[in-house]
Amino acid sequence: MLDLHIHTKLCGHAVGEMEEYIEVAINKEFEIFGFSDHLPHEHIPALKPFIHLSMPENILSHYVKTVLELKEKYSSKLDILLGIEVDYDENYENETRKILSRHPFDYAIGSIHVLGDWLFDSPRQIEEWNNRVIDEVYSEYYRNIKKLILSGLFNIVGHLDLPKKFNHRPRQDFEETMLDLAKNLKNEGMVVEINISGLRYAAKEMYPSKNILSILKTERVDITFGSDAHEPKQVGENFSQALRIAQKLNFSDFAYFKNRKKLYLPLNETTELSVLS
Ligand SMILES: [Zn+2]
Ligand SMILES: [Zn+2]
Repeated sequence: MLDLHIHTKLCGHAVGEMEEYIEVAINKEFEIFGFSDHLPHEHIPALKPFIHLSMPENILSHYVKTVLELKEKYSSKLDILLGIEVDYDENYENETRKILSRHPFDYAIGSIHVLGDWLFDSPRQIEEWNNRVIDEVYSEYYRNIKKLILSGLFNIVGHLDLPKKFNHRPRQDFEETMLDLAKNLKNEGMVVEINISGLRYAAKEMYPSKNILSILKTERVDITFGSDAHEPKQVGENFSQALRIAQKLNFSDFAYFKNRKKLYLPLNETTELSVLS
């Protein structure tokens, strides 16, 4: 098993030592483990108000160096990957590309947490939902997701249907939108994570929904798994549920990346569930 979506205290809003996260993964007998902390977004002016939610730019090299040292240290027990979660902004693709090219990332997760100047997944800005039409929020969000996919910057899409976090549900089903996104994901060779963090919030379900996952399966889009852990005990949390859904939908493998190259692990009845909680 693997977990590719892990934060660290370097981003300022996660807790615990990096080695504590690793220990949980080893105890759960994971094979692969990827740190993917928030990329500094000092290069994106619209994200200035949220600067406290990512590591400062001068810390990025330290993050990279630390992950690579831990990779070496634990190499006999766990395959540790160097990932990064990146806030996508269509106006700053070149800047983002430059920063990503400076470091030997195994993979990059592309995410959207902000629409305009609204951090729509923050409990602190939840009131703004009252001023919005929910369907329009989803439309705008998915338009941005399509640009994210086409940017060629990323390997994995983070929490694909994130606007549902606080249980704001759209009236439309967005099935055609999702079909179009799925085709583009397939074309670009991008992977969608089953991110279990939605279970921690009012949505009470994983990202993306089972419906979306079945569309992805039909379009032969690859999946992977992420806990979005912001504390060590969240590593691999609720993965048995995620695995069960993937198995039910007949996914036969799941993907990960090394040096930006896609690799697979088989997903079958023998995929170990017993150690997972
Ligand atoms: Zn975070
Ligand atoms: Zn995220």
